[in-house]
Amino acid sequence: MINQTLKLQSIAFSYDYRQVVSDVSLTVNQGEIACLLGPSGCGKSTLLRLIAGFEQPDSGCIEINNHCVASAQQMTPPQQRNVGMLFQDLALFPHLSVAKNISFGLQNQSQQQQNQRVDDVLELCRLSEFKHRYPHQLSGGQRQRVALARAMAPKPQLILLDEPFSSVETGLQSELVHEVKQMLRADHSTALWVTHSLEEAFAVADQMGVMLSGQLLQWDTPTNLYQKPAHPDVVRFLNHANLVSGRISADGRLNTAIGSFDLSNKNKFAPQQQVQVAVNKNQLFINPKQTSNAVVSACVYQGGFYLITALLEDGNRIKFRNEFAIKSQQSICIEPFNNNQYNGFLITE
Ligand code: ADP
Ligand code: MG
Repeated sequence: MINQTLKLQSIAFSYDYRQVVSDVSLTVNQGEIACLLGPSGCGKSTLLRLIAGFEQPDSGCIEINNHCVASAQQMTPPQQRNVGMLFQDLALFPHLSVAKNISFGLQNQSQQQQNQRVDDVLELCRLSEFKHRYPHQLSGGQRQRVALARAMAPKPQLILLDEPFSSVETGLQSELVHEVKQMLRADHSTALWVTHSLEEAFAVADQMGVMLSGQLLQWDTPTNLYQKPAHPDVVRFLNHANLVSGRISADGRLNTAIGSFDLSNKNKFAPQQQVQVAVNKNQLFINPKQTSNAVVSACVYQGGFYLITALLEDGNRIKFRNEFAIKSQQSICIEPFNNNQYNGFLITE
């Protein structure tokens, strides 16, 4: 049976009567790395603070290894949750050596056990040679690894990482992301990793979600999030697809300016309803044999392919990837690949 290390059930939380987390439910299975994506201010850090035990939910329940640790009625203190946290600013102790920083959470173990675990984690994080240095004697990337080693040392059931790379220079980030992923995997850690970087999330996540204004819009595998977005705002945030509008026909298909779609969730809609569909920028092609339905308005080389913007007859713009450049003002016929499953979204605005 799969062990659910973390389970959030309809968590809600307000600061001073202003709700910043609304009805958030998710699970993270043992050994998985889960990523929570979302823009600044959407409530990601607050959610981690709730899980770590620094805030108490107004409603809902937080379970760690099938035990409720937080609800409106109940609150297990942070030090009894067995959760490690890697803060955005790392929060290393400047007056302690690398080894002492790492052993900080191991005080209840014998000296021998502490030394052993410190050495093991140092090796895992490739920090052995820096054991006796102080934080100011390390590079940004090395400090990052010390902070992770410190969080991992007590073997917490769950590690929370709050935008761990925001203080590291851009060039180093992608390298570090892979290193940290490997360290977590090597220690069989279970982690919830918060980031606003799409690249970072897709590089590490087994499960991931998009959070906006305190709400978790979708919690799913990275491929499902990409291919089967559950909300138009997920599409807007990932920025990988076009939202194409149309109207449901009498036979249940969605008719749009770029053709007709057979929706995987068509029984949700009635004829004449206005619906949007997410069409990935690389799920569109130019059909030279058909009469035109769009005019090219921009063509930008993006290394390996061109990103074409075209104006559709209904006034909407559409973006797609093409192997070749196309001149501005050229008339073309754009069509979606029809061997895909598309989800429709009712237009409510
Ligand atoms: P994120 O980590 O996604 O950037 P946060 O969880 O830090 O977002 O913040 C969510 C919202 O809660 C923001 O509007 C923020 O201003 C507000 N907020 C955060 N901390 C506090 C606090 N201690 N008191 C009041 N409001 C707060
Ligand atoms: Mg934050």
